[in-house]
Amino acid sequence: MAINSTFKITPSTNPLSAAEREQKLQAIQFGRVFTDHMAVVKYSNGTWHDPEVKPYGPLSLDPSASVLHYGQAIFEGFKAYRQPDGSVSLFRPEQNGERFNRSAARLAMPAIPKEIFIGAAEALVAVDQAWVPSGSGESLYLRPFMIATDPYLGVRPSNEYLFLLIASPAGEYFPQGLKPVSVWASKEYVRAAPGGTGEAKCAGNYAASLLAQAEATQHGCDQVIWLDAIEREYIEEMGGMNLFFVYRENGEPVIVTPGLTGTLLPGITRSTLLQLAGDLGYKAEERRLALTNVLQDIASGAISEVFACGTAAVITPVGLIKGRGFEQGINNNENGPVALALRDALLGIQRGTAADTHGWLHQV
Ligand code: PMP
Repeated sequence: MAINSTFKITPSTNPLSAAEREQKLQAIQFGRVFTDHMAVVKYSNGTWHDPEVKPYGPLSLDPSASVLHYGQAIFEGFKAYRQPDGSVSLFRPEQNGERFNRSAARLAMPAIPKEIFIGAAEALVAVDQAWVPSGSGESLYLRPFMIATDPYLGVRPSNEYLFLLIASPAGEYFPQGLKPVSVWASKEYVRAAPGGTGEAKCAGNYAASLLAQAEATQHGCDQVIWLDAIEREYIEEMGGMNLFFVYRENGEPVIVTPGLTGTLLPGITRSTLLQLAGDLGYKAEERRLALTNVLQDIASGAISEVFACGTAAVITPVGLIKGRGFEQGINNNENGPVALALRDALLGIQRGTAADTHGWLHQV
C-alpha cells in the first residue's frame, strides 16, 4: 500500500499572538514552552495513517495503554536552524530517522517510513515557522516520539502506536558563556549491558539513568560518565552526550572516542565530528578507552582535552573527572582549542555561516 505522507493541516483556533510568542522567544524556557501545533500519525492494522498537523494539546490514552505499563516508548531529538537568508534548515534529520527505526526495531515497534518522519518535521516547522528563533545559539528543538497505545495488559508488542512530533524553542545553551563541566564516573550503576537497549533511544534508558545522575550531583558533578557493565572500566558515554579525548601525534590533534559497542548511543553529533575532524586536519579514531589509562594520560599530558558532544549543547568541554577515590582536573578547567575549533566549525554549518560541504542541511 502506498504511504500517504501528506499531512492534513488543522490550524489552531487559539494560537499565541505574535506579541505573546515574541515574549516567549525573548526569554526562552527550553523544554517547557511548545509551539502552537504538533504532528501526529497513527499506526494500526500494520500501516501508518492519518498524518496530521494539529493544535498542540493533551493526548487521550486508555489507562491500560501498554506504554504506561511496559514502556514501549522511543524518541529522537534534532534541531531546525534559522539561516542567514531567513529560511529554516534541519540538521541531518535522515540520520535521526534511521536511528529512530533502529530503536523501534529493538523495542519490537514498527518502523516509520522516512517520508513520514521527515515529512512530519517539515510540515510542523512550516506551520510553526515563526517559532524558529534567530538569535545567536538559538534553534527550534524537534522531539519526535512513538508510544504503544494498545489497551491491553498482556506483555507483548502493541498492535497500535502513535507517532508524534512536538517542538520547543531552544536558547543559547550556555547563556553565561561556554565553560567546562565536571563529570562523575559511576561504578555503582550501569546504563546498559551487552544485549540490552543501550544503543536504542528508548524512554526506559533515561528513567534508569536518573539515580546515577543524582549521585553525580551529590558529588558536586554536573554529569555522570557511564562505564561498561562488565568490568566497570571502559568509558562509554555521558548521560546525554558522547565523549571525545584529544591526544597528540607529533603535536597534531587526534580525537578519540569510544567505539560503538552496542551499549552506547551512536550520537549524530559524534559521527558528524568524526567526519568534521578531517576538514580541520585532525585525525579521528574510535576505540576502547579504559578509565585508568585515560586518567594516567590526562595526568601525563598525553590527553590535552576532553569534551562531550550532543544535539543540545553541541560541544561542551570537560574540566574535571571524579569518581570514588580519585579526582583529575583537565586543561586547568579551561575550554580547549580543539573543542572550540570543532564547535565553531559545526555551529557555522548549522547556522549557515560556513559552507555545508557535506550536505548536512535539509532545507524546509
Ligand atoms: N548519548 C545519549 C545517552 C544521548 O541521550 C544523546 C542525545 N541524543 C547523545 C549521546 C548524543 O546524541 P546526538 O549527538 O545524536 O544528540
